[in-house]
Amino acid sequence: MGLCKFVGIVCLLHASLVLHIFSSASLIPEETSQIPVYFLNYAKKSELFDWMVHIRRQIHENPELGFEEFETSKLIRAELDHMGIPYKYPLAVTGVVGFIGTGAPPYVAIRADMDALAMQENIEWEHKSKVPGKMHACGHDAHVAMLLGAAKILQEHSHELKGTVVLVFQPAEEGGGGAKKMLDTKALDKIDAIFGLHVSVNYPIGAVASRAGPVLAANGFFEAVITGKGGHAALPQHTIDPILAVSNVIVSLQHLVSREADPLDSQVVTVAKIQGGGAFNIIPDSVTIGGTFRAFSKESFIQLRQRIEEVITKQASVQRCNATVVFNENDKPFYPVTVNNKDLHEHFQSVAQEMLGSRNVFEIQPGMGAEDFSFYAEVIPGNFFFIGMENETQGKFARGHSPNYKVNEDVLPYGAALHASLATKFLLKYQSESTSLSRGSQDEL
Ligand SMILES: [Zn+2]
Ligand SMILES: [Zn+2]
Repeated sequence: MGLCKFVGIVCLLHASLVLHIFSSASLIPEETSQIPVYFLNYAKKSELFDWMVHIRRQIHENPELGFEEFETSKLIRAELDHMGIPYKYPLAVTGVVGFIGTGAPPYVAIRADMDALAMQENIEWEHKSKVPGKMHACGHDAHVAMLLGAAKILQEHSHELKGTVVLVFQPAEEGGGGAKKMLDTKALDKIDAIFGLHVSVNYPIGAVASRAGPVLAANGFFEAVITGKGGHAALPQHTIDPILAVSNVIVSLQHLVSREADPLDSQVVTVAKIQGGGAFNIIPDSVTIGGTFRAFSKESFIQLRQRIEEVITKQASVQRCNATVVFNENDKPFYPVTVNNKDLHEHFQSVAQEMLGSRNVFEIQPGMGAEDFSFYAEVIPGNFFFIGMENETQGKFARGHSPNYKVNEDVLPYGAALHASLATKFLLKYQSESTSLSRGSQDEL
């Protein structure tokens, strides 16, 4: 067989394969309970799976920190252009918001975060981070790939959507509060519901976990400088020792949770940073400490903030030191409690059960971690969930923010299909109930 003829047959075969995929794609199952499995099978096809893996690896090789995700954002926009999906850009510096469906209400959003962490990757592999000191160690590269995968599934079925799916690619989840900045742009003002996910090694591949109500804590950071008077370590009477003052400050801070908080109202105060002194025989002028505080209610959070400031300044003064406390909300905004809407959580459970079976849908206890998805969920009914990556046969996966962190790429089809199913079925449900879960605006975005 001549090469031309062979290539021709291969091309024909390829074309019919593509055609087959595209023609079957135009038929969302009439029985809506079959949509999630249909989308999962669709996402597992090698064309879509390999494409998501490729995207994820490209982003992994070029990690960018919060509000600096220029190349990541460019890659996302190129893929959206390729799929013919319109979008708004720039939002909150690097953010992108895409639209699939009728362009009219209702609007359901699915969200991914794009930023990496300032740390060095420890694992040698073909697609290791090419940027020294930066790494995708929280799986946000996978989140972007999954949302683009969902975009592909939804765009193939766009004429069957009963409203508009809004794709939210946001910057700076890791401490920068990119979600808040996205909301500030007003681009998400008319959204009726929003879904977000995070990969997790706590659950097996093919399983998800969430809960109704508070799911993650409110989070704030503090930093304090305690200043005394430095001098010779052998002549303390001529100094005012900030190291002794800080020792008492740290112990007193621990009493906030153990003695002042209701034992049934979970809270955390952690001093995670301490800097001061550089020699064995010198008492330093000042010592800096810093840390985080967490709570599950606004009241407890505000109370902690106030008491942290009081305890540091007053306890320092007992040892004749001065203290200044900063909460630095511009750089590190406080994250509210992440609260899942009850109705949306039920929607999530039913979609996830249809896709994965009820024994793979876990109800979890709230955790002391924090997520800036909380900003969305404060103003839009939202549901945040974890998606499992653990697989014993592939060894132990390191936890997030570890230099040995690895994404199990088998998770990508699950994330893409869940995003697509949650959105599609929300629009169907919204239409059939013809009542809004929230504001129910009839305005166009
Ligand atoms: Zn993280
Ligand atoms: Zn994360």
